[in-house]
Amino acid sequence: MCGIVGYVGNNNAQKVIVSGLHRLEYRGYDSAGLSLWNPDTGELDTVKTSGKIGELESCLEHELPPGTTRPIGIGHTRWATHGAPNQVNAHPHLSQTGDFSIVHNGIIENYSALKSRLLANGFSFTSDTDSEVLAHLIEQCYDGDLTRAVTAALEQIEGTYGICVISKLHPDKIIAARQGSPIAVGICHNETVIASDISAIVQHTDRVVFLNDGDILTATADDTEILSHKNVPIAREATLIDWDIGQIEKGGFDHFMLKEIHEQPSAIANATRGRLLLKEGTAKLDGMKMTSREISRVDRILIVACGTSLYAAMIGKYLFEDYADIPTEVQQAAEFRYRNPIIEPNTCVLAISQSGETADTLAAVREAMRKGAEVLSICNVVGSTIARETGRGVYLHAGPEIGVASTKAISCQITILTMMALIFGRTHRLSMQKGREIVDYLSQLPKLAQKVLDQETAIQAVADKYASYENAFFIGRGYMYPAALEGALKLKEISYIHAEGYHAAELKHGPIALLNGDVPLIGLALNIPGRNKTCSNLQEARARNTPVIAIATEGHRDIEKHCDDIIQIPECPEFLAPICVIIAEQLLSYYIAKLRGCEIDQPRNLAKSVTVE
Ligand code: GLU
Repeated sequence: MCGIVGYVGNNNAQKVIVSGLHRLEYRGYDSAGLSLWNPDTGELDTVKTSGKIGELESCLEHELPPGTTRPIGIGHTRWATHGAPNQVNAHPHLSQTGDFSIVHNGIIENYSALKSRLLANGFSFTSDTDSEVLAHLIEQCYDGDLTRAVTAALEQIEGTYGICVISKLHPDKIIAARQGSPIAVGICHNETVIASDISAIVQHTDRVVFLNDGDILTATADDTEILSHKNVPIAREATLIDWDIGQIEKGGFDHFMLKEIHEQPSAIANATRGRLLLKEGTAKLDGMKMTSREISRVDRILIVACGTSLYAAMIGKYLFEDYADIPTEVQQAAEFRYRNPIIEPNTCVLAISQSGETADTLAAVREAMRKGAEVLSICNVVGSTIARETGRGVYLHAGPEIGVASTKAISCQITILTMMALIFGRTHRLSMQKGREIVDYLSQLPKLAQKVLDQETAIQAVADKYASYENAFFIGRGYMYPAALEGALKLKEISYIHAEGYHAAELKHGPIALLNGDVPLIGLALNIPGRNKTCSNLQEARARNTPVIAIATEGHRDIEKHCDDIIQIPECPEFLAPICVIIAEQLLSYYIAKLRGCEIDQPRNLAKSVTVE
């Protein structure tokens, strides 16, 4: 959600920041801006626009005299929380005198009280944002030392923040800080790049330091110093990031989403590489850091997640109960954190988040840890907050996912959950023979995923036929139920079609009232348990003139009598069927959204990593 880039060094800060902001575009934003120190005038030049970075670049051409290299600056893409997404509310925000400029991600919860006090002290405000108070507070606290002023200002703030601050009085340093909103620092030679997301850093360096909550960073071109909130200097180790720049570019595809859909066979292969043990009929996930004895004691699993990860979690419930015989509960992370959840001594909590920064999931992790639970995470982004705070867990190794709608992350999440279920199963009641079968199937999963992708042209033809409908239903049962929920979510988030996911058996308990010739129904009717019942549900829909698309196992032609169109999936066992179906749903949604002219990689109102509650 929203983005920050800061730069100090020998290069042109404007160029570095604008290109960094481009890298962060995928996270979703509504306006953008930057402040640069001008060595000719000694002033901070600030340019902001509503809309996209392209518009900011046009403004920069008009407003900033060319020819001056600016060695320091900060930039921002805003995802509005307080105040309309317009030019005035865009960041950076300046203090009253214009001496200080700040960018902020997050929410200042006590901004209203702070604003009243600052107004009473003679400060005036230009924006409706919560963030502007920070600029004025820093000015009010300034006594000649910038780091001290920022620290003193932050002490008065309640809420979440990732910030960068520059001042024309100290044109050689950037101060950054975090509380709940990520900040990473790229360690380079004679320059420092700061960003809220490593995608804006990896083109400069592979050595990155992640700030922890409460850290305050003072960065110059050749030095960085981190103080804890108690003003104690702390050393934070740099993490080596093994992304290459090609991974964050489109590589010939029209959209990141399509590229990432096509990356699934290799992403799944990476997620399983070196982790499958065929002979022993199990898997090895070193990051879990649990001995077999500890695993065998687990008698309940609780999974917390949000959004698409929540649907992966629901599939995880089927996997853990079917293959490990462990009762498993899935909770929406916000629901978990605000209830008073019961965590018994042998409960293992699992947190799933692609970005590893999802605010509600992070808060759920902290609550579970406070209650003494073993907490494991499944994240994609290396070094992310959830991965670090849990200290144990499994990375997807899916590579960066740039498209806002999750694609390769969910298929890898389910792959990891299958391997976990296998490990838990083998320390419980799952036989070696059964374990070997699962390992064997898992090793074929990249090929299965490729076979679904080979259906692209046929799926595109179905998309052509249905792109103009305004409503849709997805139904399924068993493993296909979460896959139906995910199918509906994918369609609504990128095509803006109103889509609902339902358990196939629930249809007649209410939603069937909405079915008619204008509401297509996508039925997940693979050749796995529950199929015949789902086929009856398809007939019930057809009896009401509803156009029906069946996602079905290839070669089972009898499905034709239950539907108008078919999307074919290769023959696969029940536990791998969700991944195959989800890939087909992604292609269907993608092509429908494309025909409708939607902004596929950055759908309206959405953000890639949801760092607010
Ligand atoms: N709450 C701030 C605003 O509305 C920051 C939003 C963001 O994180 O982009 O301006």
